[in-house]
Amino acid sequence: MLKGKTALVTGSTSGIGLGIAKALAKQGANIVLNGFGDVEGPKAEIAAVAAPGVKVGYHGADMSKASEIADMMAYAASTFGRVDILVNNAGIQHVAKIEDFPIEKWDAIIAINLSSAFHATRLALPAMKAADGGKGWGRIINVASAHGLVGSPEKSAYVAAKHGVVGLTKVTALENATTGVTCNAICPGWVLTPLVQKQVDAKAAAQGITNEAATKQLLGEKEPSMQFTTPEELGELAVFFCSPAGNNVRGVAWNMDGGWVAQ
Ligand code: NAD
Repeated sequence: MLKGKTALVTGSTSGIGLGIAKALAKQGANIVLNGFGDVEGPKAEIAAVAAPGVKVGYHGADMSKASEIADMMAYAASTFGRVDILVNNAGIQHVAKIEDFPIEKWDAIIAINLSSAFHATRLALPAMKAADGGKGWGRIINVASAHGLVGSPEKSAYVAAKHGVVGLTKVTALENATTGVTCNAICPGWVLTPLVQKQVDAKAAAQGITNEAATKQLLGEKEPSMQFTTPEELGELAVFFCSPAGNNVRGVAWNMDGGWVAQ
């Protein structure tokens, strides 16, 4: 379905971003990976599921730096011609009460989780709007969170950034509503990635309980389903947004959260 298109997924060397990259590659899209750590492992995971002919590139831009984001977008354009699908996914977490929250963590979370989406979006839009003979075609998918819709204590920067991402999603969708460029947000509940495993480990250590008990507690606090959403499920939602059925889905913040925000 996405043969000939190119998807750039930020923060895709791990977790949800990698899951979305795999789902888009399965549909035939070329992939530009981004993120820290091992790159060959994620590339091999994508190759194992990709449709024939899919090409995978990588740019290691630090998403807290506007100039590196510009370099990444230029790399994608020169290597693949254009970014048709932009998935703003890179993100980090820090847990502390507001009065104890380290200032540099606040700045990093706002930069990586929110401002990076603004920078990548502003740089991707001109080519998306010019696509398809000037009618425009593009998909911008912002990975927000259940924390883009509701709050939790000790996550001030994350909740502020994710609510910001949902706001940015609506404005991006509205400014392009008469074109073929759509913008929507995905709002996952708990997904068992390294970002959440750290929170499980911290809970287990703080209370002297097993990892299994801490996992159950974490889910029990928020998710009526008592089950994690998976990167594969989130990848399929991204594929839906990219499908013809998603042509007029604009500005939604779609939660996939085991009932978290239904309460
Ligand atoms: P993860 O830690 O598995 O992956 C994060 C990715 O971002 C990695 O590839 C990492 O290298 C990259 N990254 C981190 N800092 C970066 C930087 N400065 N520049 C470039 N890349 C950077 O985390 P994840 O759980 O897959 O999270 C992905 C997104 O999903 C985040 O925006 C997160 O807030 C969101 N999210 C996660 C959950 C969850 O339960 N895991 C729930 C809701 C939303």
